[in-house]
Amino acid sequence: MATYSHSRVSTFEQCPFRYKLQYIDHLKVEIPTTIEAFMGGLVHKVLEKMYEDKKYKKRVAKSTLIKFYKELWQKEYSENILVARKELTADNFKKMGEKFISDYYNKYKNDDMTILALETQQMMTLPDGNSWHVRIDKLGCKGDVYYVCDYKTNNSMKDQEDADSDRQLAMYSSWVKDKFRDAKKVILLWHMLAFNKEVTSERNDIQIKKLQEEIVSLIKEIEKATKEDNFPRKQSALCSWCTFKEHCPSFKHELVLEKKDITEYKKDSGLKLVDEYSSIKAELTELNLKKEEFESKLIEFSKQFNFDVVYGSNNLVKVKEIEKIILPEEKEEFIALLKEKGIYDACSMICYPKLQSKYFKNELHPHVHGKITKEKDFRLTLSKRKEE
Ligand code: SF4
Repeated sequence: MATYSHSRVSTFEQCPFRYKLQYIDHLKVEIPTTIEAFMGGLVHKVLEKMYEDKKYKKRVAKSTLIKFYKELWQKEYSENILVARKELTADNFKKMGEKFISDYYNKYKNDDMTILALETQQMMTLPDGNSWHVRIDKLGCKGDVYYVCDYKTNNSMKDQEDADSDRQLAMYSSWVKDKFRDAKKVILLWHMLAFNKEVTSERNDIQIKKLQEEIVSLIKEIEKATKEDNFPRKQSALCSWCTFKEHCPSFKHELVLEKKDITEYKKDSGLKLVDEYSSIKAELTELNLKKEEFESKLIEFSKQFNFDVVYGSNNLVKVKEIEKIILPEEKEEFIALLKEKGIYDACSMICYPKLQSKYFKNELHPHVHGKITKEKDFRLTLSKRKEE
């Protein structure tokens, strides 16, 4: 039995290959974290301090919290933290964090919620016997109403639909119900610090049970991938924030190029191969267009002078008018007719892409599947680099 967490299963969903590097291979990376995560982590520490002091009836001033935040930043910030948005600097994020703390302090300094726990490190058992990490930023109550609170420092506002489908806090809701038997209600609360707003949601027992089943099935998928060592890369916009890029075959060459000066950059063998390959492809497209243009011209020429053979210096072109068939638009109906008249088998072809897809999805009858073998091959796809 293993321990899973919201971030662990989310990483698998985001990119199975990243999951392998992070949770199975435990690879060390040059980039320790992203600036968003770094700033978010410090804001969490500062708000934890605010409530810790409050617990001991020590009223903490806003200026003390801001000073604490700045000290933490100075102590923990390092130049190799990833700032993915090139138009922003680490200082922009530092100021954002400061504003989040200031707004939060103003809004909640007199809040009468009883704080039960901060930054919890608890475990709950899932229906399949695996453990689930319970990491609640702030757990509080007002009478028998419990609040599972999460600080969000990201720049996109969570709407009600997002909150009602969020997995992380919903999973913690069952742990709270289990631990605190007087809890009549468990409210999931997100502090959207960038907007100085709250979003709340609730889950009933049926929804929690369904969610746990979904998690268990996702864990099964992870365990299957682990057993088969099958962790494909899943490229997305989130790759810009991936701290494992240096180990990712999809980005390793890009990072190698970034480290080269302009002379070395231009000499790079991979760069030269791609540049030549792309110009060959462009020439081929142009030549194909030219070929079609010349075929039209030859047809026109042969029609104009009533020639059916046109002569060049060493070659000749025969131009023959032919007849070709055009199938009806109602494809399904036409196929049914061919089948009914017994012509279909003689005139149809195997659809290779469809058969291949069914083979790899294991959707073929075992007898058919068994007749097919597979081999390794390569497919090249040429596309534009983003920054270009
Ligand atoms: S860079 Fe993208 S594809 Fe590569 S490991 Fe990270 S998330 Fe996956």
